Amino acid sequence: MNLIELYCPICQQQVEGNDKVVLDTINTITHKTCFNLEFALKDYGTFEEMVKRYEFFKCED
Ligand SMILES: [Zn+2]
Repeated sequence: MNLIELYCPICQQQVEGNDKVVLDTINTITHKTCFNLEFALKDYGTFEEMVKRYEFFKCED
């Protein structure tokens, strides 16, 4: 599966498919370990799971 290139807004590292991430209410992906806020959390799991669950993360090509 093709994953879009996405960088964590906190640590600036590229998010890998098996990284544990959180999705906030404005659809921003952040590493679970970088995300400190308890609120505004919409979903969580690995980045690959988020991509499968939410169409807007799918790669165009
Ligand atoms: Zn991060």
